Amino acid sequence: MSKQYNPYDNVLKVVKNAADVLGFSDSDIEAIKYPERELQVSIPVRMDDGSTRVFQGYRIQHSTSRGPAKGGVRFHPAVNADEVRALAAWMTFKCAVVNIPYGGGKGGVVCDPNELSENEIRAITRRFTAAIAPLIGPEQDIPAPDVGTNAKVMGWMMDTYSMLKGHCIHGVVTGKPIELGGALGRNEATGRGVMFTTKNMLKKAGMDMAGTTVAIQGMGNVGSITAKLLHQEGMKIVAVSDVSGGIYKPEGLDIPAILAFLSKDRKNLLKDYDEDGLTRISNGELLELDVQVLVPAALENQINEGNADRVRAGIIIEAANGPITAEADQILEKKGITVVPDILANAGGVVVSYFEWVQNIQSVSWTEESVNAKLKEIMDPAFEAVWNIAHENDTTLRMGAYLIAVKRVVDAKQARAIWP
Ligand code: NAD
Repeated sequence: MSKQYNPYDNVLKVVKNAADVLGFSDSDIEAIKYPERELQVSIPVRMDDGSTRVFQGYRIQHSTSRGPAKGGVRFHPAVNADEVRALAAWMTFKCAVVNIPYGGGKGGVVCDPNELSENEIRAITRRFTAAIAPLIGPEQDIPAPDVGTNAKVMGWMMDTYSMLKGHCIHGVVTGKPIELGGALGRNEATGRGVMFTTKNMLKKAGMDMAGTTVAIQGMGNVGSITAKLLHQEGMKIVAVSDVSGGIYKPEGLDIPAILAFLSKDRKNLLKDYDEDGLTRISNGELLELDVQVLVPAALENQINEGNADRVRAGIIIEAANGPITAEADQILEKKGITVVPDILANAGGVVVSYFEWVQNIQSVSWTEESVNAKLKEIMDPAFEAVWNIAHENDTTLRMGAYLIAVKRVVDAKQARAIWP
């Protein structure tokens, strides 16, 4: 059996290390070690065959020190309280590193959307939203899409919440369909942020985008948009994967054809995609390919002490949340591999979620060009700040990002002081 990793332990280790460098005492960081609020709910659903099934769901608010909780909702069979806790905490530090006025939260339902009909997914979404309704709201906690959820699910969440309140409340979720107040550019935002980050990183490394080889694990929202944009920038994407496995072609895959195949039907998987010259590989093999850049864009703990030694990429851009365990991080550092951390690399999603919420509460709408330009205005300086502080402290980019984020969160917590 493979070792079980508790991603929340990872978060606590990094926060403690950053606090030590910053000179914060144990007492200074005591409060941010615990999520502020956790809710577990049981969600009964009438299935298409007439039977009743009960799904477990969570909404966890790690911190509201810097603003309302903000973070996605995950529909996946592996969802559990520790995972949601870690994802909520990463949101706190992600919002802090890009300096947007939010805390961190996350939610999830233990289910497999690949095995559910649209009716069943809608029923789960509505009952889950009703169950967590006391915690969420535009000024309290604002969900968004994550693994297994998308704009359609956000539309149902917004409708359910609005029906319960008796009036239309756009700002309760972000990542909504455009016709319900969704931001232009939100669907592509996380991948676009990963592209900006990759560009910034390669520039620092003295490398060109054109011709640089990349492998991407995960071809959902984040992985597929990242693939599209990196391909447009001239990078050579030699491998991609999804839950069904991966495909590899050293000359570079036909990314537009792959994206067209996957977008035709939400149940299409790479195991059924074909093009000349490709080799089928596993998700594990993809991580160990001889590429210049590796982009994990699926789930957490993918690179761990069991395989970190075999990773050959020189640069890893963490598009997923928590894809590298704390033990693996140390192994990669010793090998001289540069890791651009999740809380910076994938922050584009929450930045444009923030733009969506700002537009919703003001009842205005911005053009896609302006959203993309404003995203770049936040992502580029955030990368530069992390790069600089990491180099000033002779440390990793992950530690650099946490030095900035932990300081902002602790400073806010201390400015508010403890109530009562
Ligand atoms: P998604 O559901 O759209 O896609 C997930 C992808 O991972 C799919 O291709 C799926 O087939 C694959 N996958 C699922 N289980 C897998 C497994 N066991 N092994 C390998 N691949 C597997 O999800 P997403 O929104 O693209 O999120 C991907 C990652 O990015 C997650 O870590 C998420 O938390 C993070 N993230 C997402 C956003 C966002 O805006 N959606 C923002 C920031 C970070």
